Amino acid sequence: MIHGEMELAAPLRWGMVGGGRGSQIGYIHRSAALRDANFQLVAGAFDIDPVAGRDFGVRLGVAPERCHDSYHALFEAEARRPDGIQAVSIATPNGTHFEICKAALEAGLHVVCEKPLCFTTAEALELQALAQARGRVLGVTYGYAGHQLIEEARARIAAGELGEIRIVQMQFAHGFHCAPAERESAATRWRVDPKMAGPSYVLGDIGTHPLYLSEVMLPGLEIDELLCSRQSFVPGRAPLEDNAFTIMKYTSGAVGYVWSCAVNAGSMHGQKIRVIGSRASLEWWDEQPNQLRLEVQGEPVRILERGMGYLDAAARAEDRIGGGHPEGLFEAWSNLYRRFALAMDATDRGDAARLASLRYPDVHAGVHGVRWVERCVQSADQGGVWVRWRD
Ligand code: NAD
Repeated sequence: MIHGEMELAAPLRWGMVGGGRGSQIGYIHRSAALRDANFQLVAGAFDIDPVAGRDFGVRLGVAPERCHDSYHALFEAEARRPDGIQAVSIATPNGTHFEICKAALEAGLHVVCEKPLCFTTAEALELQALAQARGRVLGVTYGYAGHQLIEEARARIAAGELGEIRIVQMQFAHGFHCAPAERESAATRWRVDPKMAGPSYVLGDIGTHPLYLSEVMLPGLEIDELLCSRQSFVPGRAPLEDNAFTIMKYTSGAVGYVWSCAVNAGSMHGQKIRVIGSRASLEWWDEQPNQLRLEVQGEPVRILERGMGYLDAAARAEDRIGGGHPEGLFEAWSNLYRRFALAMDATDRGDAARLASLRYPDVHAGVHGVRWVERCVQSADQGGVWVRWRD
């Protein structure tokens, strides 16, 4: 159980790039990082507009001289201070991730970066090599993975409860962009602009989330080849897609499917993962994250509830309140940020055993997501052909 106590000798001095006032995702980064006292927000370049960024930073309690006009200025100024930042989170539009991440790692910082990590596998591998060479943590905010019942699914699958894994059915299919929301919303506009969104819209923006959940639940599963069809229903979004279907063949003989969609009219979020084995299936839905369905063939459906004693120890370790009280996305993100902090601290102390005991969406998860989007786009743009996962 987590009680919000600091678990490090001292909080990590932390900065942010992006996540300014009015941004969609900035607040949950701060809420998650600051909740357990493992990070302290001391600096930032919070906004593309320096005046707005400084004003916002000061309102967050950051000293005015540590609210910077750009990420370059932030990294340079902080590197000169004896009490400069040790870690930075990047919550800017996709098209900026690679350059900011690279600059942060070169400045010797631990990094938490928004997904997608970057646009190409080559760039992602460059960041991975840089993080390794500098001995820095590079985490990626696949935030749903912090929900504890994902750990329960992982444990039950590992114990063989489902039997042989045959099918992994995934979707992230919401309806919020079934009309041209980009006409009114700047945050939607950049998502359908290839310059800022990269080679895809929904594949990278949302499809990679359940994909990462499948990596956590099924650590041995390896994609062998995939086939993708993508299309855009709202005029003006092409060549980027607002809907995509991806079929995958795994090396084990199992198959998988991801439906990525922003035009699923009426759907609030629609992120689900269902793992189907030869004896039983497990299903988790992000709109009811405190429940996990276990369906054994020939038996009544069981709903496993977060916080209960019958769950695996790994699924109870990050409880913040007892079962019955709903926990949500903010708690899931806090769990991940806690793991990021522990990993950064273990890295700084050279504690390899501690580091090996921690699981979080790391640079490998970032590379995997980027490669998946790249392969999906390759397949779809050749008319929906099978493409090999590895070169
Ligand atoms: P947004 O457009 O709402 O906000 C972007 C913020 O970044 C703004 O404050 C903007 O001023 C600032 N910014 C832009 N360029 C900057 C720069 N060069 N330097 C400093 N600040 C800069 O975007 P958003 O919806 O919050 O998305 C941001 C990122 O978070 C994207 O990569 C998106 O894919 C990701 N995201 C992730 C999740 C998740 O569940 N992990 C959810 C939503 C968004």
